[in-house]
Amino acid sequence: MIYLLLCVWFGLATGLVGRIRGSSFFIWLVIGAVVPVIGLVMALLFRSDKDEVRRQCPTCGNLIKLHDQMCMRCGTDLDFPDFAVEAESAAAQR
Ligand SMILES: [Zn+2]
Repeated sequence: MIYLLLCVWFGLATGLVGRIRGSSFFIWLVIGAVVPVIGLVMALLFRSDKDEVRRQCPTCGNLIKLHDQMCMRCGTDLDFPDFAVEAESAAAQR
């Protein structure tokens, strides 16, 4: 019974952390409830997509994640770029 309460509590805490990080509250709630302590740690370490550094596709100008190997819009194969575009979260802070 105490374990069940612990799962619910950790589920809610993990869900809230996930929500703050710009992810789904419900997904993190489930993760936190299934693997209580580990789930919370995962949510705390989880990097939001919005914190990812981006770059611009040289062919179509689409903004994509820095680590992407291929442009999702035009399919151009990409080398590692000379410069990167700041993360979405950093741009939003101005
Ligand atoms: Zn492209």
